[in-house]
Amino acid sequence: MYEDFASKLAATMWADFDDKPDRTDGHPAEITDLSTTVIDGNFPWTIVTVETDEGVTGIGEAYPSPGVHGIITDYLRPVLVGENPTDVERLYNLMRESLSGRGSQQGVGTIAISGVEIALWDAAGKLLDQPIYQLLGGKIREEVTVYADCHAGEAMVESAEEGQQETTYQPEAYARAARAAVDDGFDMVKFDLDVPSGREFDTLSRHFDPPEIEHKRAIVEAVTEEIGHDAEVAVDLHWNFSPETAERICRAVEPYDLAWIEDPLPPENTDAMRELKRRVDVTLLTGENRYGRHGFRDLIQEQAVDFLAPDVPKTGGIAETKKIADMAEAYYQALVPHNIGSPVATVATAHVGATIPNFVALEYHAREVPWWEDLVVGDDLIQEGRIRVPDGPGLGIELDWDVVEAHEKE
Ligand code: MG
Repeated sequence: MYEDFASKLAATMWADFDDKPDRTDGHPAEITDLSTTVIDGNFPWTIVTVETDEGVTGIGEAYPSPGVHGIITDYLRPVLVGENPTDVERLYNLMRESLSGRGSQQGVGTIAISGVEIALWDAAGKLLDQPIYQLLGGKIREEVTVYADCHAGEAMVESAEEGQQETTYQPEAYARAARAAVDDGFDMVKFDLDVPSGREFDTLSRHFDPPEIEHKRAIVEAVTEEIGHDAEVAVDLHWNFSPETAERICRAVEPYDLAWIEDPLPPENTDAMRELKRRVDVTLLTGENRYGRHGFRDLIQEQAVDFLAPDVPKTGGIAETKKIADMAEAYYQALVPHNIGSPVATVATAHVGATIPNFVALEYHAREVPWWEDLVVGDDLIQEGRIRVPDGPGLGIELDWDVVEAHEKE
């Protein structure tokens, strides 16, 4: 049934399905299988593998999301088996067509497609013996800046243990965490500000009173005083505030010249974000909940924020993220890609960052996972807060499958 479905879809895109162009003259290759492996990191990192009959294997990563494995193996595998893996853009459209009405516009369907798209670029690069950045038009920088997500003070929000909130979420803990990241070589750090102050109150209205605003201002003051100009500081508000409270938080931290304030408002309403941006004198960022160029269009056209944070393994993959960047560049907006992934997602994002002018930094969210670097064969990827974009074919990295298996999730 799927074979017929795939054939029918492909036939709508090429007049004669059997006569589709072969762009790999000298490298005839066919996709033979798709599969997933989940690594038990600080998130379930979902590695996507595309096998070919040339012995070349492409690896990608899909954003952690329930249902990705089933979509890839049950829906996308039958569509892609037999196809030419170097036809990345055509296969991206084919996957979107095949899931039309079942999540190809946004949500888990797009996430699954994103993971496969990255693996297709890796396979294509290996087959054509070129790094992905070269296939995208060539790199314009040798290395990309990585910023350290330091979560909240000395703990992740969700892992702060009962009774520890008094110390975990205090300004001194944040200052210590900031200094540690700077000592590790990062010159850009980010903290969560949507954290408990220790006072009990109803947060559902998203209205926060002056003592709560003061708690957040004091955290920002402690961090910026501690590290001075050693690093830029950003904060994440995770969609938890009403427009009036977000405005008061932004005003309270205006004097500290933050790199950006992330997701001050719930993610759906671009008008509200644009209005906030007009009213405050801070740099605003959003985008990790948006899918594809269409999902970013209003944020860009309405210039509702300064920085956009597409997540490559979620928003549509490598080429889709570059298209978002190209749209944004016309409005002088820059990309600060969201990333909570393994080295695969991180390097995929670095390839995009290397090829676009309007790139500031990409996120690194796994400082508490000591074996993150061990997942890749060779030298550490992140050195002194930078990734030197790999020059090998495809992504230019090789997973250490022994380490992957040691941390594999059922
Ligand atoms: Mg965020």
